[in-house]
This record gives sequence, structure tokens and C-alpha cells, in this order.
Amino acid sequence: MTIPSVETTIRLIDTGAAAGSTCSPDLATPPWEFDAGTPGYGPGSSMGDVIPAGSPRQGALPERYRTASPEELSARIVEAKQALGDSVVILGHFYQRDEVLRHADFVGDSFQLAQATQSRPDAAAIVFCGVHFMAETADLLSGGDQAVILPNLAAGCSMADMADIDSVTECWEQLEELYGTDADASGRVPVIPVTYMNSSAALKGFCGEHGGIVCTSSNAQAVLEWAFERGQRVLFFPDQHLGRNTAKAMGVPLEAMPMWNPTRPLGGNTRGELDAARVVLWHGFCSVHRRFTVPQIDAARAEHPGVQVIVHPECPMAVVDAADSAGSTDFIAKAIAAAPAGTTFAIGTEINLVNRLAAQHPEHEIFCLDPVICPCSTMYRIHAGYLAWVLEALVGGGEQSAQVLNQITVSPDIARHARVALERMLAARPPASTAPATTLPDQQLVGV
Ligand code: SF4
Repeated sequence: MTIPSVETTIRLIDTGAAAGSTCSPDLATPPWEFDAGTPGYGPGSSMGDVIPAGSPRQGALPERYRTASPEELSARIVEAKQALGDSVVILGHFYQRDEVLRHADFVGDSFQLAQATQSRPDAAAIVFCGVHFMAETADLLSGGDQAVILPNLAAGCSMADMADIDSVTECWEQLEELYGTDADASGRVPVIPVTYMNSSAALKGFCGEHGGIVCTSSNAQAVLEWAFERGQRVLFFPDQHLGRNTAKAMGVPLEAMPMWNPTRPLGGNTRGELDAARVVLWHGFCSVHRRFTVPQIDAARAEHPGVQVIVHPECPMAVVDAADSAGSTDFIAKAIAAAPAGTTFAIGTEINLVNRLAAQHPEHEIFCLDPVICPCSTMYRIHAGYLAWVLEALVGGGEQSAQVLNQITVSPDIARHARVALERMLAARPPASTAPATTLPDQQLVGV
């Protein structure tokens, strides 16, 4: 059975040629039209961050890319890739639309892809088909003379945008005022900052500078163990759900996990609540994973007796509790690969990945828990037109010299500290090895 891509399905629904619904009519609008009135997020990652002077802004996509057919864009991308040879490597995130992902040399999650850059030191240009914080991490881990390119600078992450460096610094100062900086008798400092990979480089740098660490959805528990050994409490940002779900699975009671709302003094907490805290949760969330609900799980179980429900830990706690299991994209892929043929799965994560897993495993029935088509709308900003644009700029030709467009660069001051936080993560315990069957022929899934 051929499964149409998410982009095709959205087009068909929009024109009335297919049944179903999407979470926004804007998804049927090409990103260059949708973003025409606004400059996009820019290279600061968080809309609250200051965009460094001299950084690129998203330029208008030339008409020849806006009006090209999908087939023409695909052919142009293939031709440009051939012309560039080993000087370019294209990285594609699991949540990326198929029309872009089919051109990727590596497919994986954000950290796996950032590490993939290290396997291609020969590539002068790294084209990252993901979102802004991922490209920043690739810049942190790649060689100094490699250029990391984000095809559309408007591809940010709404979760990463929920914690900006100023708000986190202000929170940190309030906690420092309450608890000081001295370690207790067992050598544990008052607070250890932990940032999810889905955050700006500035926040990774903040963690590196303040004795903290980065985590992924694969290694969040190992990282929290590391932090509890060194701190009396953890400040976890930006995703409250990953923090809560992980800490709860480790036995931390809910009353020891107050939420920090940056618009209120002490984050909206009393001194007593913070004294009792083991994990202070930033009030961020993923707009994609927040859509999954317990009634959806109930409906899946009613319609498909015996269905296995697996959700991502960015989902709310009630959803994780109601599911059969929860884990990272790698965990989900491996669980499906290991199941006996004929298993039915309802998956609570981004629809592009769920569709791809369904296509890859025809021996199972696999569907998305949410019946509404709702891809990550920021990652969806990377359209094949933008990919063709940045690749053909690298090739140059005619009177046009070769050009690096949309380069993402983390400033040396931030990069120095951010690398410390990433190195601590790797030393705490590397993320679980990721080597599931390739999701796309001729491409590599990256193991870390
Ligand atoms: S799926 Fe959620 S966390 Fe991931 S890039 Fe999109 S908005 Fe950000």
C-alpha cells in the first residue's frame, strides 16, 4: 500500500479531493507566502533572543523556486547535489516532510544529526533540514571551517522559543538570591540547570557556564541522575512535560516539581514550594506533542482492541500514563521493529515520522493517535524550494559566484560554554545507541 506524503495529503484535503482535516489551513499555503509579511524567527532561535548584528535574515525566495513544480524542484536538487559532490552533506530530521527528506544523506533526531557532521569533516557545507536550534547544535559540533546552512531561517521551534536567555537568567538570579551558591555538607550545590536539546545555543551555553548539562529525550533520566548527584534541585527547561515525565518515572513526587512561570515573582511559587522542589519545571511545551490526549487513546483502544499505544515523552503526563509505553523517536522505531508482524500501533508523535514508519513496516498497522493532520509547522517551513535555492547558490554558475546562504553561526563566547554542557552530557552517559533499520533506502540513520 502506498502511503501519500503528509504534504500531498494536506494538499488533497485543502482542495477537497480527500477526506480528513488539518490543524491549520495555513499548512496548505507555501511557506514563502505564509511568512511574506514577517521576517521569520531569524538566527537568534528564540524570538526573545537578540539577533546578532550581521547575521543573515531570511531573504525572499526567488520566483523560479516559488513557481517550480515539485518534480522540477526535485530534479534541481538532485542536479545541484551531484555538482557539489562530497563538498555538501544534507541532514534531515525525522519530522521533516518527505519531499525534502528524500534528498538527505543522513536521517535522524537532532543530536544524531549534529553528530553526523563529525563523520563528514570533508563537507564544506552542511545543509540542515530541521529547525534553528538543531542547526546551531550542528555548528557547535562541526569543524570550524564548515558552514551550517538552514534553508529557511523561519524554521524555528516554538518550544525552544518558550525559554529565552533573559528569562532564564532572571529565574536563576531569583533562585540564587534564595539559596546562594554554596554547596551543602554532601557537596551538592543549590541548583543545577538542565536544558533539553530543544533550546537555543545561548541556553546550552548558560548551562555550561553554571555547572549544568544538556539532555535529549533518550538520555533524560541519566542526565537527571547526574544532576541529582551534584545538586539539591534541578532547574529544567524548556519542556515541562519531558522534565515531569522523566522525574516522575524516577520516583520524584509531583509536589516536588513546581512549575516556573517567568512572568511571575518566584515563578508563581511560594518559598516553601521551592524549598521542597527536586525539579523546578519551566512552563514550556511542544505544540505538536501537546495535541495528544487521553480520549484519543481511549478511542484507539475502543476501535482497535489490542492496539499498542506508544507516545513521545514531550506529551502531557496523563497521556504518557495512559499509553502502553513512552520514549524517544529511537525508542518508538525500535519498539515497532521488534514487534511481531500484525501488531497494531497508535503512535503519539509527529505525523511525518508516523507516516514513514507505517510505510516502512507494512507488516504492522500503524497510525497516528491524533486523527487531525498536524505536522510540526515550523519544521514544515523547510520546503523543497528553499532546499533547491541554497544548494544552487552553493553551486553558483553563469555570472553568479558560489554563495553560502543562511549560514547559522554560534558566537565563540556562547559556543565555548555550550560545548561544555554537551560534553558533560556525553560523559554522563551517551544517548542509547541508535541503529534501527533505515527508514529510507540509500540513506543512513545515524547512531550515537
Ligand atoms: S516538534 Fe515540537 S519540539 Fe520538535 S521542532 Fe517542532 S515545535 Fe519544536
